[in-house]
Amino acid sequence: MLNILPPIYKEVGSMIYKISGKWNDCNTYLIKGERKNILIDPGLPDDFDATLKEIENIVKDIDFIINTHCHYDHSGSDYLYQDYFGAPIIIHDSEVNHLKNASDVTLSSGLFHRDMIPPKEVIPLGEVLEELKRYSIEIIETPGHTKGSISIIYGDSLITGDTLFAHSVGRWDFPTGSLEDLKGSILKLEGIINKNILNVLPGHGENGNKHTISYVKKLFS
Ligand SMILES: [Zn+2]
Repeated sequence: MLNILPPIYKEVGSMIYKISGKWNDCNTYLIKGERKNILIDPGLPDDFDATLKEIENIVKDIDFIINTHCHYDHSGSDYLYQDYFGAPIIIHDSEVNHLKNASDVTLSSGLFHRDMIPPKEVIPLGEVLEELKRYSIEIIETPGHTKGSISIIYGDSLITGDTLFAHSVGRWDFPTGSLEDLKGSILKLEGIINKNILNVLPGHGENGNKHTISYVKKLFS
């Protein structure tokens, strides 16, 4: 079903814009950097035109597209943005082939009942980690929701994909998911958030904050 609500965005931290996902679409984040513009989790193809319009109100070009993981509701429109901006897709090394082949791990047919069109150019994260650091982007491996799930630190904000939500955690029962891994990732993020994170920016729903971890740790106790 097409979503006719207009997308909204708001500034949530230094140079990060949030385009809130509607219905089951994910939140998309745009980092307007001093040197590069980076789009994170473009989302479902359905909202491409409306989301693109919002993006172009903020920046004229996108240099990289990063997926926090390969699930279809985060990566389904990768190919559209890649064609439009000529930007490479970056995803954790262990999910490159899942994305390129639209494997079961993407949930495209299994959960979303859609024919996924994979992006043409996919770069394994390991090849560009150092380059991303130069743009002040730090990647944290946070397996559990999927094996190659990542979180992204930019300034005082932490983009968590489907690993951590404002008041809960992501599912661990999909292919390559693991509850044990997820618990470890939440503990890892706790340390990072306690140090210097003010905004927790999840893949779905509202933003979290410093207290997010204390809510979700109760789920595991
Ligand atoms: Zn997911």
